[in-house]
Amino acid sequence: MPIYVYEHVDAMGDQCPEAWEELESMSAEPLAKCPWCGLQVRRAPTGFHASVNILTTRNIKEKGFTTLVRKGKGHYVKV
Ligand SMILES: [Zn+2]
Repeated sequence: MPIYVYEHVDAMGDQCPEAWEELESMSAEPLAKCPWCGLQVRRAPTGFHASVNILTTRNIKEKGFTTLVRKGKGHYVKV
């Protein structure tokens, strides 16, 4: 079974991961609601079946993630 990555469409709950993987059969209906907060979610675009761990800093913003960049000693800046 393929693994799909889900992400929130808009708002997300405090306890929610920014993205997560679901193991689903090809014929399964995609999730419409987050299992944690019940808000709207979507399956990441077709072809993006790989683990969220391979997100690069280049595409990470397109996916709506926030990256923290280290600026000096123990100081992190949101980019
Ligand atoms: Zn959620």
